[in-house]
Amino acid sequence: MDSKAYIFDIKRNTSEDGPGIRTTVFFKGCPLNCSWCQNPEGIAPGPSLSFRPELCHPDDCDRPCIKACKTKALTLQDQLLRLDRERCDKCGRCATVCSRHALEQVGQWLNVDELFYRVAIDKPFFDATGGGVTASGGECTTQMNFLHEFFKKLKAVGIRTAIETNGMFNFGRFARLLLPWLDLIYFDLKLIDEAASIRHTGHSNRHILDNLLRLTESAEIPVKIRIPLIPEITATDENLRGIARFLREHRIKQVSVLPYNPLWLDKLQRFDMDVEYRHGAFMSDAEIEHCIDCLQAS
Ligand code: SF4
Ligand code: SF4
Repeated sequence: MDSKAYIFDIKRNTSEDGPGIRTTVFFKGCPLNCSWCQNPEGIAPGPSLSFRPELCHPDDCDRPCIKACKTKALTLQDQLLRLDRERCDKCGRCATVCSRHALEQVGQWLNVDELFYRVAIDKPFFDATGGGVTASGGECTTQMNFLHEFFKKLKAVGIRTAIETNGMFNFGRFARLLLPWLDLIYFDLKLIDEAASIRHTGHSNRHILDNLLRLTESAEIPVKIRIPLIPEITATDENLRGIARFLREHRIKQVSVLPYNPLWLDKLQRFDMDVEYRHGAFMSDAEIEHCIDCLQAS
């Protein structure tokens, strides 16, 4: 079987996604739809087209993109290039002829061998620093069969593996296909209240909490719980105190926080995304400290 996955980014030399020097692979597709998603281009499965009008100067260009587009999604209006996303089938032909990179197809289909060779090149750095490869997303567990083959191949040559997950997976398949090949799990816990979870992520959190408990009870590898601190959504006293109570009830002692990063807002224009949540500031040290106090005091 030559399974393929749609990968929208491969970041080498990362240090935030696990111990040592790592390569993080971002898989496209996610079952949640968080209103603050830092990688909104990773939610939909398959290709996406990025358009940066500030790089496009149609009056100084032969406009090969318009000729390349078979669906007539690109037109010139008032001397500006317009992209009609309803017509666009994300074939990427326009991006291959745009030398200014105003149009770019995000990501690519890779098979297991292709992805393996791209990441294994850094094995000497992984070995020297205790690093490895982290699968992220989107939600990487949406491509469980592919990940199974990929991790097996990495482990066969002694490369350590980790995943970042939002917990929306089938536990039986996860335990069978991924757990035996993993060294570390980062589990994002966002909201403790079910209604808030439905409102802000589009899904109930019941399944996520069940999976978290099953993992912490049965996994023989570290399961590191992280709370993304999203102002006014997850970074509220009520949510953090509720999470702290839940963790204490289940004798889970360790949790860390991921402070909000507003830089994702730049992506909205590139992908013509219309979202309600647009908090534009980093959190202050005092705000982060307050969140940690809420977790510790409850
Ligand atoms: S998108 Fe690229 S190829 Fe098309 S008009 Fe703009 S600069 Fe030219
Ligand atoms: S991705 Fe394909 S369909 Fe979409 S604008 Fe480009 S050429 Fe046209």
